[in-house]
Amino acid sequence: MHVFGLIGNPVGHSLSPPMHEAAYRELDMDAKYVTFEPDADAAEAAIEGAAALGVDGLNVTIPFKQDVLDFVEPDELAARIGAVNTVDFSTSPPRGYNTDAAGVSRAFDHHDVSLSGTDAVVVGAGGAARAVAFTLADACDRVHVANRTVEKAESLAADVRADAPATVTAGGLDSLDERVPAADVLVNATSVGMEEDATPVPADLLHGDLAVLDAVYTPVETRLLRDAAAAGATTVDGAWMLLFQGVVAFEHWTGRDAPVEAMNAELRAQL
Ligand code: NAP
Repeated sequence: MHVFGLIGNPVGHSLSPPMHEAAYRELDMDAKYVTFEPDADAAEAAIEGAAALGVDGLNVTIPFKQDVLDFVEPDELAARIGAVNTVDFSTSPPRGYNTDAAGVSRAFDHHDVSLSGTDAVVVGAGGAARAVAFTLADACDRVHVANRTVEKAESLAADVRADAPATVTAGGLDSLDERVPAADVLVNATSVGMEEDATPVPADLLHGDLAVLDAVYTPVETRLLRDAAAAGATTVDGAWMLLFQGVVAFEHWTGRDAPVEAMNAELRAQL
């Protein structure tokens, strides 16, 4: 039997087990997806223990995404981002990937949104925004990072700018007034919209030439996405990003195409 899983603390809320197990059922695989909750300072022991036990692959979530980097061989994108969310134990040392990043581009692809040559705005400068900004900067012409705490936006933009071909700028949330009307792509990577029916982007800035991805997936239909749809924009909900980070992880672990429809149906049923 193949064993895959998730390490994080806490992991009780995770939708990854049902989503991955739907893939195993669909492909008739003898496999199980298990959650593990090591102590916050036990990243090294967790990776070594999983390797010793013959675990095939692990997803990694908070608080281990940065710490795990030191105990795996990260691919180039994960190394640049400075965070790993997927470990493949089929090699020694195990390989580390950041499929949060790949999930963003696959989610746009799935909605026929081409990022090539576009002008993009990322709202937020936390962990999700980091994966989003690095991904967009590899494909878009321009990426603007806007965040409530301006210093964090500037720090993220400086990290992204160091390796990316795109022009990368930063500002506070007030910079959205100028940037969103001129943008082709907008991603909300703040947690605004999760706890309450709020949006980080004023509705009057949205327009019909935008593609809008909201990383928030609880609720699936956020106020930002409702406003964007009303403005005629293409909308991509956060469940697509969550789905495709899992799809890309599955593909790294198994070398097979993931059964995207089965995984999506289970994820949406859970949400
Ligand atoms: P994080 O590291 O804690 O970052 C939170 C971000 O939200 C920061 O930029 C913070 O700004 C901003 N923020 C929080 N409250 C705000 C407010 N009231 N007004 C304006 N900005 C505010 O969190 P994260 O891990 O990046 O997660 C962010 C969101 O993405 C969460 O909803 C999470 O569920 C979602 N997410 C989704 C996926 C997916 O696959 N769909 C993956 C990862 C995360 P400051 O810097 O100013 O504090």
